[in-house]
Amino acid sequence: RAKEMGKARYAIFNQELHQQAIQRLEIESDLKKALAFNEMLVYYQPIVELQTKRLKGFECLIRWQHPKKGLISPLEFIPIAEECGLISSLGDWVLQESCRQLKQWQTRYSHHSELSINVNFSPKQFEDIYLPQTIHNVLLDNELEPHHLNIEITENVFLSNNITVSKILSQLDKLQIPISLDDFGTGYSSLSYLHRFPISVIKIDGSFIRQMQNHNKYLEIVKTITTLGHTLGMKIIAEGIETERQLHTLQELGCEFGQGYFFGKPLQASVAEKLIQISNKD
Ligand code: C2E
Ligand code: MG
Ligand code: MG
Ligand code: MG
Repeated sequence: RAKEMGKARYAIFNQELHQQAIQRLEIESDLKKALAFNEMLVYYQPIVELQTKRLKGFECLIRWQHPKKGLISPLEFIPIAEECGLISSLGDWVLQESCRQLKQWQTRYSHHSELSINVNFSPKQFEDIYLPQTIHNVLLDNELEPHHLNIEITENVFLSNNITVSKILSQLDKLQIPISLDDFGTGYSSLSYLHRFPISVIKIDGSFIRQMQNHNKYLEIVKTITTLGHTLGMKIIAEGIETERQLHTLQELGCEFGQGYFFGKPLQASVAEKLIQISNKD
């Protein structure tokens, strides 16, 4: 009996794994066609100057409008794209699409000609030595200044310990394109990255911001990161601001910028555009 039950359980387990594998293969093969079928979208989350609440720009966040499965989160398909070699074409697309959109907004709303965007890059994209050239070309094509684009990387890019990564980062620095270190504090943080590489912005991960009020130690971490960044001449963006109280705390700490549901969720381009229309520069 026990043996039979064991077998049955094994069969169910096996079946689940099988389902998962099929699901994953489906996503992978759909992903290969997604760009050609125009299924990818960029959502725009406002980034705000905390002292004045002025709109600084947007973080560009990719979404996949799957014909059957609906809107799929990047957390679900970016890792797959990285594994199956699709990340560079997805990355190129996000960059082009968001730069095109930014230029259009800057032109339409002349009081917002200094609006900027933050674009996320995967560590895999930093294996391509031509990346700075690609980025530079997109900026030229869209007649954007280098400081209108912020490149977001995570600490994971440093794991490879690859010479290519530091070459790319110093070329981007020469092009005067600012680099932001995303999700700071959650990865294999090493303080040495902060001074060894040309990083101009630290983004404090939302998990710290959310817990600031509940546990004093998180408040201390946020304080320490902010002070450290400022000492090194960097600006700070706080992620995941959801309450007015969090905003006030961050203002007191002298944190320059922030984003989060308190200011706005990631928005479709047309909705983000309305926000630009109604928000004043001064
Ligand atoms: P991220 O770069 O750290 O982006 C911030 C994430 O936090 C976004 O999730 C955003 O929707 C979410 N968020 C913003 N404010 C709040 C808040 O107040 N509360 C909460 N609970 N969440 C908030 P999203 O859009 O699902 O993106 C997840 C991750 O996927 C991003 O994390 C980024 O690592 C990656 N990603 C998104 N777009 C791209 C892309 O174009 N290329 C690459 N390589 N990765 C991307
Ligand atoms: Mg990011
Ligand atoms: Mg982040
Ligand atoms: Mg994060």
